Amino acid sequence: MINYGDENEQERAVHRSDQYSWYSVGVECSERDKIKAEATRALKDIVEFTDRLLKAMNTEKPASLTPLDKDLENAVGAKERAFGALMQHQKEHGC
Ligand SMILES: [Zn+2]
Repeated sequence: MINYGDENEQERAVHRSDQYSWYSVGVECSERDKIKAEATRALKDIVEFTDRLLKAMNTEKPASLTPLDKDLENAVGAKERAFGALMQHQKEHGC
């Protein structure tokens, strides 16, 4: 006798793992990893420049804040480009 119960359970388990592993590290793609690394670096830059800017707010004259503000803007721009590239890559490459 075939045990349909177990079979169904197995099928569901496969579907479940498919659903949750669509973006897993199991799928190797150096291009995606490269873009992810860029996004990660940009996010860390945003944290760092925001932190510096926050500290400088109380100690520096407004004009001195401009370069830091520019750095932060550039980091946000880099983050947006990297995330855009990540979405584009997913669309084209499926990973
Ligand atoms: Zn890919």
